[in-house]
Amino acid sequence: MIDQKYNKSHTECNNNNNPGPESNIYFISLSKKKIYIDMEVDEENQQQCPLLDSNVWRTRSTVFSCNNFMLQNKVACDITFALGSEGQEVVAHKYVLISRSPVFYAMFCGPVAESSNVISVPDIEPDVFQFLLSYLYCDDDSVVDSESVMALLYAAKKYSIYSLEDICKQFLKDNINFDNACLILEQSHAFDEKDLYEECLKFIWKNGEEILEMNCIKDLCEKCMQDIVASDALNADEKIVYECVVSWSENQCMKKKIEVNDQNQREILSNILYHVRFPLMPLSYFADHVSEKQILSPEEKLNLYKYLCQSRSDAVTPFISRYRSKKTCLHCKRFKGMVDSSDWVQKGKKDAVSFSCSVPILMHGVCMYRSGLTGAPYDIRLELYDESDNQLTCVHRTEDTIESSVEGRFLFPVLFDQPLKILSCSYYTIVVKMIGPKSFYGERGRKKVVCGNVTFEFISAPNKSTNSTNVFTGQIPVILFSPWL
Ligand SMILES: [Zn+2]
Repeated sequence: MIDQKYNKSHTECNNNNNPGPESNIYFISLSKKKIYIDMEVDEENQQQCPLLDSNVWRTRSTVFSCNNFMLQNKVACDITFALGSEGQEVVAHKYVLISRSPVFYAMFCGPVAESSNVISVPDIEPDVFQFLLSYLYCDDDSVVDSESVMALLYAAKKYSIYSLEDICKQFLKDNINFDNACLILEQSHAFDEKDLYEECLKFIWKNGEEILEMNCIKDLCEKCMQDIVASDALNADEKIVYECVVSWSENQCMKKKIEVNDQNQREILSNILYHVRFPLMPLSYFADHVSEKQILSPEEKLNLYKYLCQSRSDAVTPFISRYRSKKTCLHCKRFKGMVDSSDWVQKGKKDAVSFSCSVPILMHGVCMYRSGLTGAPYDIRLELYDESDNQLTCVHRTEDTIESSVEGRFLFPVLFDQPLKILSCSYYTIVVKMIGPKSFYGERGRKKVVCGNVTFEFISAPNKSTNSTNVFTGQIPVILFSPWL
């Protein structure tokens, strides 16, 4: 960080060491981006400038202070950079640059060192290069702000200045917001900054509906777009996802200067289209807004129609019918209370409970209690049986409960690959085998739970439950479901 003296932003001097109204006063401010020195410097002939000749700027000054003075006053500079498209010249000292960057070292000392004293850098603008020099000369990290950060990250990467790179990346991570999320995503893709890319994706997924409706998303590349819409974590209704990818494809047509029509849009959308979860759309929306266009083929439309109108429980490949954000499922919560100490042993015994419902539903999965402590992820096997003991489905999951705990602090969802049709007035048994840290558990379980127009009835399943879960206590606190048509 900057020496505290600098934050006072001034040093005073005159030839008599006696500051007065008429004295030359110069200021060095490193506390913000603007570095300015309010002093008269004879650039033509620096040797004759009394301030440079005087010893004042060195006296009791820090290395940073002297470095900055040397830079700002062009004292003994030995390299010139011609910057940006206009080749504006900025001078510097090889010694400082070499001491801070391996790329500058190679440039000035390596076997193929530059012989010219003017280096052309058309891809960095002069103001950005000045900020870079400020950092290199004075460790001034205040040059990193929302306007400069992208260009500085580029410059830091270009010259392998890792500490500045880290500062820029941290600044970006800390400042992802609605206005810049798409831009940072695309830039981190371009820079191959995987951590930053992931952080941006998480922000976009979490705020899915708002971001998908913003204009900036239309400019994303195909990979970025696909990574957004492919995720289960995307928190958005499928109607919004569909409308977003359609308008993205329109924009891509225009960028490529090809006609905007259904056929071209389909070609551009390619695999992205299969990440729109058409099977989760209301039939009326599909009929009015999707089937009217020729983006889906007639065969795909027919299959989706059949799925939406009839079975819903069969897969309609290659489209995905799994719910994304768990908030779009309804929750049947069977416990009145929770014991908030991690006492439920999860060593691979089976937790089980049976239920029936008053009207047919689509069951998407369950929520499980997690540990109150951070710890190892859970290895989970979730099974569902009908009353005649036929196994209807079985899924294995490894859940990092900290990351996936979207239901709140205590619960995390475990979803089937496809929602299952649950008939009314039949009993089904949920069996879960979890291996991992001890978990919270529920108490005061209810035999009957009403959710909207669905009444669930729970009974214990002693034959399958080997870990003490029953209708009154234990695990499997929530059934995730949606209404059958
Ligand atoms: Zn991209």
